[in-house]
Amino acid sequence: MSRLQEAGTLRSVGVGPLRVSYVPDGAVKMVPTFLFPETTEADWSANAELLDASGWLTISSGAVLIERGERAILFDVGFGPYPEPTANLQYGMASMYGGAFLDNLRKLGRDPETVEAIAISHLHVEHVGWADHPSLAHAPVLMSEPEWAARRAEHGVTQTVLDSMAGRLRVIDDGDELLPGVSVLALPGHTAGQIGFEVIADDARLVGFADVFHSPVQIAHPDWPLVGDPAPEASTQMRQRVLGRLRENGTIGFGMHFADVPFGRVSGTSWEPLA
Ligand SMILES: [Zn+2]
Repeated sequence: MSRLQEAGTLRSVGVGPLRVSYVPDGAVKMVPTFLFPETTEADWSANAELLDASGWLTISSGAVLIERGERAILFDVGFGPYPEPTANLQYGMASMYGGAFLDNLRKLGRDPETVEAIAISHLHVEHVGWADHPSLAHAPVLMSEPEWAARRAEHGVTQTVLDSMAGRLRVIDDGDELLPGVSVLALPGHTAGQIGFEVIADDARLVGFADVFHSPVQIAHPDWPLVGDPAPEASTQMRQRVLGRLRENGTIGFGMHFADVPFGRVSGTSWEPLA
């Protein structure tokens, strides 16, 4: 099966002295015309390589580990310890599961106890799932002010997770440094206060664009609105803005939800995965 159809696996990319790793937790199998409600069957026939044998689009969920020497932060923390796949077709989900995050983190040689902070892109369930795990209870939680202000215990984000984060929250803003060479990128649109991250070191650059894009198919179709998007026009503009950045010479993109092709470069209207 193609990497475009499979759930993400452990992958790391070096940017100067930094290592950026995708830490898989699980995946959601989505009905493609639900996730992108203005698309048709014909659109998906033209992009059939993205759909698995059942016709689902694979949306990976996980975390990002960013390391510089001994120092390490996490960016997002997966869906959580739910290894039994569940379906919720009302929300276009044919199968949703998580649970591999901690084991994968340890496979990278990193104990959760040594992570110095957890940055959260936005308050959706598949990004905060492990935030209240005891092994991460020591780590400050970094989030934008508008994202935290809009918090609600709904759609799988529990009051328990919110309470766990409240006591160790630190508000961060566009341009703030997360580690030397790693800074916050404000990416509002998908949610009020969504953030991503940018790594710049030794003339190399990586942009973690959070949920500005959910699938590589959007590189060619940035105008496709996402289901439930609160501000479709602003989100399309943000995708165009990020695409401009990704097209700058040699920039590596990181897409959390991009099946098993999370790291890649944009060439024209295609996503060219890194090994
Ligand atoms: Zn997401």
